[in-house]
Formats: sequence, C-alpha cells, structure tokens
Amino acid sequence: DEAEKALIARREKVLGPAYRLFYEKPLHLVRGEGVFLYDAKGEKYLDAYNNVASLGHCHPRVVEAITRQTAVLNTHTRYLHEGIVDYAETLTATFPEALSQAMFTCTGSEANDLAVRIARFVTGGTGIIATDLAYHGLTNAVAEFSPSLGESVTLGPHVRTVAAPDSYRFSPGEMREKFGRDVRAAIADLRRHGIKPAMLITDTIFSSDGIFAGPKGFLKPAVDAIHEAGGLFVADEVQPGFGRTGEAMWGFERHGVAPDMVTIGKPMGNGYPMAGIVLRPEVIADFGPRARYFNTFGGNPIAAAAGKAVLDTIRIEGLQHNALEVGRYLMEGLKTLSDTYPAIGDVRGSGLFIGVEIVADAAAKRPDSTLTTRIVNGLRERRILISATGPNANILKIRPPLVFSRENADMLVEALGDVLKTI
Ligand code: PMP
Repeated sequence: DEAEKALIARREKVLGPAYRLFYEKPLHLVRGEGVFLYDAKGEKYLDAYNNVASLGHCHPRVVEAITRQTAVLNTHTRYLHEGIVDYAETLTATFPEALSQAMFTCTGSEANDLAVRIARFVTGGTGIIATDLAYHGLTNAVAEFSPSLGESVTLGPHVRTVAAPDSYRFSPGEMREKFGRDVRAAIADLRRHGIKPAMLITDTIFSSDGIFAGPKGFLKPAVDAIHEAGGLFVADEVQPGFGRTGEAMWGFERHGVAPDMVTIGKPMGNGYPMAGIVLRPEVIADFGPRARYFNTFGGNPIAAAAGKAVLDTIRIEGLQHNALEVGRYLMEGLKTLSDTYPAIGDVRGSGLFIGVEIVADAAAKRPDSTLTTRIVNGLRERRILISATGPNANILKIRPPLVFSRENADMLVEALGDVLKTI
C-alpha cells in the first residue's frame, strides 16, 4: 500500500543501497511476542528464522531485567560492579572447567576480532585457517577470513580456507578424515610461505557453509593439527551456542574438543547487543596486562542483567532440552515430507539448528536455488518466516526460538508440505 511504499522510499533514500531487505515485498514489523512477529496490519507470523530472540521475542524476564537495571545504573566496566562478576561466573559455569574466564564485547564481530588479536599475540604467528564460506563478522580483521562476504572483501595473504565438511555428499568417515587432512595441508601451505599459524577458527555447526552439523567428533583431527602447529583453536559459537543444538549448551561439546577460545553473541542478551569470548586463562596470562582492553559498552550493567536473565531462563524453562526434543520432532516431520517431495534432498542439523537442502535432481544432488527462493516466499505467504543459506542459497535455514513447541513445528511442516504441493 501507499504508506508502506513511502516508508521504503524514505528508507532507501536515507540508508542507501547496503541495507538490503528480505523478500520482494518487504515485511513491515511492529511487534514481537514469543515465537510470533506481527506486521503493521496486525498479521501474525511464526518466526522460524531468528536465532537472536532465542527465548522468544520480548521475553518478560529479560524485559524486566533490562528495565530494572536501566533505571538504576549503567556505566562501563572500569568501576567495580557486581553485575558483570555475577554474570561472568554464571556464564563460565556453563563451560568445561578449563574455560573459566570471559571478556565482553557488543557484537560477535568484535569478539572474533579480539580473538584474532589475542591468538596472534600469544602464538607470535599470523596465519589463520577458516572454512570456504564462513562468516565471522564485519570488522576488517575478521572480514579477511569471512569468504561469504564475497567480492566486497579480499582474503588476507595469511588466510587459508578449507571446505566445510559436506555431510550430504560425503560419508562420516570421509569427512572426518578429509577435514583433518585439509587443515594439515593449509598449515603446510602457510609454512611454505613463511607464515606461522596463529589459529583455526570454525563454527561448530557450520552455518553459512550450509548448516552442516556432523558427524560428531569430526573436528578433533583438525584441532589436534592446529595445536601441534603451535596455533590456537577458536570455536565460533555465535550461532550454535546457548543450547540451540539441544545436545549440549555449546556446539564444540558435540565434538569432544577443547577450544582455547570460544566466541559468543547473538542470543546472549535475547536482543540486547552483547557478545564476548570465553577462554582458558593461560591464553591471556601474557596478553591481558599489556592489552589495555577497553570496550565502552561491552559487559555494562544492563548487558550483564540481560545476559543473566537469558541464562536463568534457559535453565528454568529447560530450553536446551526443548531444543533437543522439538528439534528431533521437527526433523522427523521434515524427513517424512522428503519421502513425498524429492526436492527435499537432505534434512540435517542438531536441535533447533536445521538445514533443508533443496535440489533439482535428487540423484545428482543438484542445488535448486530458484525453487528455494519460491519456497521461502511461499512460506512467507503462509505466515512463516525462514531464510536460505549455503554456497548456492539452496538450503532452508531453520533456527526458531528455543521455546518452539511441537505445535509450532507442525505448523511449519504442514505449511512446507502445502508449498511443495502447490509449487
Ligand atoms: N560469527 C558467526 C558465525 C555469525 O553468524 C555472525 C553473525 N551472523 C558473527 C560471527 C558476527 O556477529 P555480529 O553480527 O554480532 O557482529
């Protein structure tokens, strides 16, 4: 309608071309509650995309915590305040014992940026190994090993990329062997160019690479390789962290590996901007005193209150377990659909982090990005929000809030079936 067109025109004029919107006919949202989002006309949409509002939109416990703290005090971390200490204790208690210290930033990009700085300082190396289509953030240092940014960035001369393990096209044995071998080859190549490896950084469920979750344990040979080479392993948990995988609070736990640093963000404040690194104290023993680390907003009292409310809620509401249980149920429903519709080539993931690969030819596993776009649009018409990812944008990205119910899962599966039937 006219009002919406006018808003889009104003937006384009003032924000410019970098701010792209989802959907040909953009969604004009005004409110969120639980697993639902509401548009300006009062239409209700099931949110199966948003892994920031992990507790559901506008969760009352987080709203209350932020509101309470906003009215009392907000300041940076150079004054003594209980909030950040309480929060850091609660947060690190969810990690294996060795990962016992935390540093706070505002975004996942900053967390990864700080992780690179620490890794380079600690190892004396500069080399970085990441995956072919990774996204680790927007700062210049991090963009250098975020190939998914495409032509807007140039990979750094000290960066090597390896293929993320494609569980649709390789067997578990092949992948486990291949990923370790590829990382060893990347290390050897860095050395041939006189570059000492500083770190291997990977998602622990590969997100922009195509939502590959397994096989469990496949990271181990690669992590062993970087450690033998004197580098650190950084687990990027910005997407799979905080219970989303259902099987564990943190994705790396599914692989039996010990990261040196874990970067976290997105659902950490259920929408309040906060992120950080959890690390082994040995890693920053030297760096810390010389770092002069300061972040104006990172770890402030409001962030600490929001973060604490999020962790409390995950525990009180049993959300990790719900992610496991409803995730399995949803995955079964999606797999059942794939029996009827050969366009669904693969259903994969863990907990409520699910990818559905859409193919033109099931035998050849040929990606169908056009059909994928039509499915995403078809679901939107049926008031369900998801997105697509992967090298060919042909993988449905399903990451609903962790409070998703079986009934919500049914809504999604039924709507997807309906779209596939009519498309
Ligand atoms: N790492 C991963 C895996 C991400 O998905 C993202 C954001 N999409 C980031 C890091 C960067 O986080 P932020 O947008 O908060 O800077």
